[in-house]
Amino acid sequence: MAERPYIVGNWKMNGTRAMLSEARAIDRAAQRYMKVEVAVAPPYTLIHAVHREAEQIGVGAQDCHPGAEGAHTGDISASMIADAGAKFVILGHSERRQDHGETGELINAKIESALESGLRVILCCGETLDTRDAGKAESYVLKQIEIALPLFEDPGERLTIAYEPIWAIGTGRTATTDDIASMHGAIRELLVKTYGEEASAQVRILYGGSVKPDNAREILATPEVGGALVGGASLSAESFLGIVVGAS
Ligand code: PEP
Repeated sequence: MAERPYIVGNWKMNGTRAMLSEARAIDRAAQRYMKVEVAVAPPYTLIHAVHREAEQIGVGAQDCHPGAEGAHTGDISASMIADAGAKFVILGHSERRQDHGETGELINAKIESALESGLRVILCCGETLDTRDAGKAESYVLKQIEIALPLFEDPGERLTIAYEPIWAIGTGRTATTDDIASMHGAIRELLVKTYGEEASAQVRILYGGSVKPDNAREILATPEVGGALVGGASLSAESFLGIVVGAS
């Protein structure tokens, strides 16, 4: 288990103001688990409201535009997200790659913009089932990361990687702990090669894909798993907190 595991809820396109009670419950309970870093990424419309409620948990966004401002109808920049109270942004999620055709180059530009605005970044990566079955999961995922990685001297806690096999997202299937350990080990090697051992030591590698209270403890005990990115199970305070307990 990481020194301070990072448990992040990705609410996706879910949540109206009625969800603020869940955020309040998560925040109150998180104060009992100070050794776990807990955060949620609500939709844009709730970032400011969750930020105002939250004393303990971090609040983030699920995407941002690479530009600072301008004529981009419907888009939101990293500095706007930061102004609303976000401290981090999830970038390169497979649903954005699939639904919006996001490329590695675009994700890299978004990361640079987010970092310039003072946001921490959670960079997502993960393979399809076809890619895994073809024995190409590791090379595919490492390539995704290499293309998107920003040039840092010392990434520290500003960078987190989330390995999320696409076939495990929202399906109830999870990767085996052997597969998770092997992929996270390969990602760690890439980080060490890119930034050096010391500078990359604080970069946590999260696992995401059908993490639930009943499998969290085992997954989080897997070598090189520094926490979890949680979709469906983060929508109720009770199940999300079950995962936080598994990390404590
Ligand atoms: C996600 O989409 O980031 C995710 C991990 O979803 P779920 O937990 O629902 O599989």
